Amino acid sequence: MSAIDVLVARLPEGRILTDPEVIDSYARDRTFCEPGKPLGVVLATSRDDVVETMRWATEHRVPVVPRGAGTGLAGGATAGDGSIVLSLAKMTAIRELSPGDEIAVVEPGVINADLDRAARAHGLMFAPDPSSYEISTIGGNLATNAGGLRCVKYGVTRDSTLGLEVVLADGRILNTGRRTMKGVTGYDLTGLFVGSEGTLGVITAATVRLRRAPAQPPATFAAEFPSLRDAGAAVSAIIAAGCQPSLMELLDRATLQAIDDMRSIGLEDATMAMLIGQSDVPDGQAVVSRMEELCMANGATFVAVSSSPQETDDLIGVRRMAYQAKERLGACLVEDVCVPRSVLPEMITAIEEAAARHGVRICTVAHAGDGNLHPVFIFDHGTAEPPAEVWAAADEVFTRALELGGTLTGEHGVGMLKRRWLALESGPVVQEVSAGIKGVFDPLGILNPGKAI
Ligand SMILES: Cc1cc2nc3c(=O)[nH]c(=O)nc-3n(C[C@H](O)[C@H](O)[C@H](O)COP(=O)(O)OP(=O)(O)OC[C@H]3O[C@@H](n4cnc5c(N)ncnc54)[C@H](O)[C@@H]3O)c2cc1C
Repeated sequence: MSAIDVLVARLPEGRILTDPEVIDSYARDRTFCEPGKPLGVVLATSRDDVVETMRWATEHRVPVVPRGAGTGLAGGATAGDGSIVLSLAKMTAIRELSPGDEIAVVEPGVINADLDRAARAHGLMFAPDPSSYEISTIGGNLATNAGGLRCVKYGVTRDSTLGLEVVLADGRILNTGRRTMKGVTGYDLTGLFVGSEGTLGVITAATVRLRRAPAQPPATFAAEFPSLRDAGAAVSAIIAAGCQPSLMELLDRATLQAIDDMRSIGLEDATMAMLIGQSDVPDGQAVVSRMEELCMANGATFVAVSSSPQETDDLIGVRRMAYQAKERLGACLVEDVCVPRSVLPEMITAIEEAAARHGVRICTVAHAGDGNLHPVFIFDHGTAEPPAEVWAAADEVFTRALELGGTLTGEHGVGMLKRRWLALESGPVVQEVSAGIKGVFDPLGILNPGKAI
């Protein structure tokens, strides 16, 4: 009996897909990374399915690639030859939602926005909101420590995670953390697993923190600038002035143009960048007025304050369209550098210079309030790999981000795509210690090999 037949016999009927064409769609994420040929896809519907799969994988030394919705932008869910894809997308129960304790216990396949909607029914919210919130899973968000638009005020996924249920490589179940707001017993294993990109264990449940949803709609503005650098300077000034925005997103001309081409937004010729900001405190309009002044002082040509929740939703909708609009231009290498917010203008200049020097088309959006920029390098759809000039420009952008005190990835993770630059940021000691941690949890190296570290 082949290894895959053994697994088919052990799992309840209908849990495994083996048709090569169907498997292929489960073997990729949203990057250009080409997968290999996995043995099959397990559609887990319970923790027991995951335990059985991991026991089998350990016995047969089969690599396992955990998978949520496959919206990742770093190649983390790309499956290699002879591996098994372990999809958690069908584990969609919200096991508990406790308004009194402001927590929820959820399975990994719950879609981020579904949890937020369930929380809103109780006056609460799930704060981490990646732009992919309508399509990405909580399991994927946890495994990548996803950020989002609200993170400038409420923090990233790790800041909303209290505890995890994890199935280890050999099928044992590890419960980390707690359901209390505080707690320091032992090592912070929850923090370790959040952001571990499926390389240490498979998350089968999470206890997450919910927060009070603001009582009033956020006060919102959009400012137009004659250059991206001016917009970056405005962000640095807003942060330095202590405005504490609840959202601060930046889009460059190329991104706005791509969105305008997809769905007309009435883009003016002179607009080279747009900054969208929000404040969700009770006197948000006063904070927005202050942010408006700082935009004008830093070269904004026009600032509009939203007059209705619908207008605000439309504006944020424009921002959330950015990646989809760019995918229409060509294949995308999406980068994710994060720099201290005081040096945003310098980082923007470095991106513009790299684009010009290497003749590469780069469209940039940024969770600017966090200093997190997504320069998206566009190349021909037909090309399997980005051409040399794209890698050279990306090299330059990463190197400059690190020189400015930044990091390679603010929220998407290392996956496969950023491993080539890892040594630039993590020295040999970090790499040795990381390999040691991997060895403790996954001594056979079967969990998502070739990713993250
Ligand atoms: C249009 C668009 C907008 C985006 N905007 C943002 C954004 O604003 N912020 C942001 O951070 N990201 C963003 N992303 C990237 C992506 O949506 C996030 O990384 C998201 O967290 C991935 O979730 P997923 O369910 O698709 O995970 P997948 O892509 O399926 O997996 C991602 C990684 O998590 C691992 N994994 C998945 N589930 C589990 C599990 N249960 N246990 C262990 N490991 C697991 C996988 O092995 C892989 O390494 C965006 C992507 C798109 C397409």
